[in-house]
Amino acid sequence: MEQTLAILKPDCVRRGLIGEVIRRIEAAGFRIRAMKMVHLTKKEAEGFYAVHRGRPFFEELTTFMSSGPCVPMVLEKENAVADFRALIGATDPAEAAEGTIRREFAESKGQNIVHGSDSVENARIEIHFFFPSIELVDRR
Ligand code: UDP
Repeated sequence: MEQTLAILKPDCVRRGLIGEVIRRIEAAGFRIRAMKMVHLTKKEAEGFYAVHRGRPFFEELTTFMSSGPCVPMVLEKENAVADFRALIGATDPAEAAEGTIRREFAESKGQNIVHGSDSVENARIEIHFFFPSIELVDRR
């Protein structure tokens, strides 16, 4: 079974949307295999998004991601990586398909409610960024 790393971003937590977004994730057939709430430091956010270092939005993104608590979780499902990207929609909510989580709730391209890994390999790396193996329900 494939796994992906999702993060309910600080805007999701701040706006009281944790329950609503998790409801949609479960309704779409994902099983939650790990979950917690953490408040990233700026340095930790920079580490998580290291691939974007140097991009014009890097400073704003890492300031936002360290602005309050977020909820990383490991989701499991067949085809989890692609199916979760489809559930959340395009980065920019204005371009996200009708019915997707970002289209419904995101206020901007930067503050877009939720993160989802973009490949199986990155999912593995991102899962281990947040979760030591003792916190994974189904260790591997
Ligand atoms: N981002 C932004 N401006 C941009 C592109 C991205 O603020 O022009 C932020 C946004 O929060 C996005 C994150 O940086 O979710 C990571 O960007 P990526 O291109 O990986 O988008 P994602 O995979 O999250 O859709």
